[in-house]
Amino acid sequence: MGCHIEDQWLDARFAYNLERNQYYSTTLLGRLGECNRSPDLSARILGVSSVDLFVPVLTFVFGEAQLEGNRAIVSYYRLSEPQRPELLPERLTKEAVHELGHTFGLRHCHNWECVMSSSHSVERLDIKSARFCDRCAQVVQSRLGVPRPDSLTP
Ligand SMILES: [Zn+2]
Ligand SMILES: [Zn+2]
Repeated sequence: MGCHIEDQWLDARFAYNLERNQYYSTTLLGRLGECNRSPDLSARILGVSSVDLFVPVLTFVFGEAQLEGNRAIVSYYRLSEPQRPELLPERLTKEAVHELGHTFGLRHCHNWECVMSSSHSVERLDIKSARFCDRCAQVVQSRLGVPRPDSLTP
């Protein structure tokens, strides 16, 4: 398991919505795979964007993912506002882990500290952690085929 950064850029203009002055994240998700030169079914592609993302039912989204799919996108457009812009890297990390969690089949979690708790505001992002709660972590570990600690004992 590893992580690498593709040097390819995806021009987001095709997903631009003139009326909303925003970019349709679902449309962007659909094209993300084209940046992946070595398609690996178990791999996840995370797009990191600077543009303002939306889906039709919401004013904006910080990111979007394919539930149990392999693509996720996050944007840092709204993550440096309104207060404490220095928290941007932490917020982006939380949002990235959250969207990747959806690709592992996780839905929103009721544990407010869990990274899978729903957060539609920067304030909500700031109070949750960047970690999965035990229950969510177990789901991700089983999807990744990582043995649980208790099964490592001889
Ligand atoms: Zn979510
Ligand atoms: Zn959870």
